[in-house]
Amino acid sequence: MSTLRCDKCSGYYCFAGNWDESKAPENCPMLLYPEIFACARDRSLEEKVRELNVPAAMVEKEGFAKIDGKNAPCYPRIREIVEFAKKTGRTHIGIAFCKSSSAEAKMIGDIFDSFGLDVDAVLCKCGGISKNEVGIPEEYKVRGAGAFEASCNPVT
Ligand code: SF4
Repeated sequence: MSTLRCDKCSGYYCFAGNWDESKAPENCPMLLYPEIFACARDRSLEEKVRELNVPAAMVEKEGFAKIDGKNAPCYPRIREIVEFAKKTGRTHIGIAFCKSSSAEAKMIGDIFDSFGLDVDAVLCKCGGISKNEVGIPEEYKVRGAGAFEASCNPVT
């Protein structure tokens, strides 16, 4: 049974800055694992974490605009990645993608190319290992028993 369920939270108290034990839902990770969050809070002050956190916050801030007096997100996620790479001096970026998202991966790769990023992209089926080889029963093949189907490759 799962125990961590932010998806069921009605208050997002951590986000709002008014979290306390009395209102946290029973499956709140902060309630269940306070020692982990205390450790994370301390480690957030380390320079190597701040080097990522500060530019990430800058991109977040730049990606919002005031519309009708309200903060509204304006950067798509892909632009956030590009802006973050620029701010942190990163020139090399990796994309791991599912075959069913290959059209999107191509578009994203083209966008990263256009910003001069050095792209490495790897398909989930890379390696071409047959489902037969890894012991996946024939009945679980999409194309039917006997057909070649590459297994997803969660190892490499
Ligand atoms: S950490 Fe706790 S308060 Fe924050 S969203 Fe998750 S359940 Fe809600």
